[in-house]
Amino acid sequence: MGKKILFVASECSPFVKTGGLADVVGSLPQVLNKNEKTDVRVILPLYQEIIEKWMDQMELVTSVLVPVGWRTQEANIYQLTHNGTHYYFIGNDYYFARRGVYGYYDDGERFVFFCHAVIEALPVLDFKPDILHAHDWQAGLAVAFAKISEPVKNMKTVFTIHNIKYQGIIPRDAFEELFNIPLEHVGGLEWNGLLNCMKSGIFHADKITTVSPTYAEEIKTPYYGEGLHSIFADRQNDLIGIINGIDLDEYNPMTDPHISSNYKYSRIKKKENKEILQERLGLPVDSDKPLYVMITRLVEQKGLHLVQSILDEFLQEDIQFVLLGTGDYEFENYCYHAEERNKGKLVSYLGFDEGLARQIYAASDFFVMPSLFEPCGLSQLIALQYKAVPIVRETGGLKDTVTPFDEVNLTGNGFSFANYNAHELLYALRYSLETYHDPDKWAALIKNVNKSNFSWNESAREYANLYQSLDESLHNA
Ligand code: ADP
Repeated sequence: MGKKILFVASECSPFVKTGGLADVVGSLPQVLNKNEKTDVRVILPLYQEIIEKWMDQMELVTSVLVPVGWRTQEANIYQLTHNGTHYYFIGNDYYFARRGVYGYYDDGERFVFFCHAVIEALPVLDFKPDILHAHDWQAGLAVAFAKISEPVKNMKTVFTIHNIKYQGIIPRDAFEELFNIPLEHVGGLEWNGLLNCMKSGIFHADKITTVSPTYAEEIKTPYYGEGLHSIFADRQNDLIGIINGIDLDEYNPMTDPHISSNYKYSRIKKKENKEILQERLGLPVDSDKPLYVMITRLVEQKGLHLVQSILDEFLQEDIQFVLLGTGDYEFENYCYHAEERNKGKLVSYLGFDEGLARQIYAASDFFVMPSLFEPCGLSQLIALQYKAVPIVRETGGLKDTVTPFDEVNLTGNGFSFANYNAHELLYALRYSLETYHDPDKWAALIKNVNKSNFSWNESAREYANLYQSLDESLHNA
């Protein structure tokens, strides 16, 4: 009988997605269950968006009462099976029946409630996990509560850091008022006098993982550790980096229903897809024009300050640029005005649109991702899958998945630069354009892109080994 593992997360494709976390939580359990014979199930909050799209396929399992300060809140636990994987949802209209996923004044309280409800639900579910595997700050307290709560104290725990920048910091008073945790446990939850959900997960988990080997090293340093680097000094041996994969059935340009012209085995239908995209976005239709794109959250992390500094200059070249994104006002505003200045060459599409994203991946020649930091990054992997050449900064998972093109030995599957410097980005962009116009070099590069493979198989094996090692320590305890 395989291991029983419960994933706790705030996002999961296809139910709800704001970024790469959803891709990972959506695809890893399926691969683990298939290849490694585990029984991984996933528990998520029941957001309004999920109620609207999936409720008719769900069944109510049970209800539990969750103490919240002087009152209690009910959590209704629903379940459904999708593509062979079992999902649970924590329903509470007050906290979760809202538009969108994050960005509410009480996000801290919402996800503390979620974690608390997960732990309250465990004893009454007919699924008794050997391991609780929590993802990012929204699930961090599930690990802490699991260690503190008597009924599930012996369950092993794994905590995965998808992005250490977002930590879920809540005033300590508010927390103590709402969730009466015994005083002796507060030290494991707080950081600099505040409750820190990310730190709570790291502190309490038996094993900590993050989503690439390079990021696992980076977060031990003050530059990347976002104030938490010193915690890892004590947990060095329990921290490992496992690179994310992507679901190759989902991101398959030969079958993707979102793209207009599916690729055929050896034929990358860039030109057809480019023309369709150009037409759709109102760009001059010309399939020979090199097309550079970004599909991204519009936040500082994604290197937008570098883009701001050099985009107008790069657009002097004979190219087109498409930017699909949503996020901070500063960058949305920039994108809007950059398009106004560069009509006919640049399109900024402000919004989150999965279908359009796929068409852009399929149509583009280059995928630009000059991140300030990047725990793993899935977009560059999807780009490679759709034969778009990534141009990245050498950080985190970008460094682990993109090898710079070497025109002498004809190795490498993309372009990269080391320092967070706008002119290094501009240089990489210009070099990529030069390579595009050299048919021999370009053919060699595309050949390498075709050979890149980022399936989950190897990484799923690493997770399975990690679960196994926990189980052994459980039996030896
Ligand atoms: P992060 O999780 O930091 O946002 P990743 O590169 O790991 O970055 O994952 C981003 C995921 O979200 C990819 O699947 C990407 O295609 C998708 N995505 C980002 N922005 C948009 C958008 N505006 N519309 C559609 N998909 C988007």
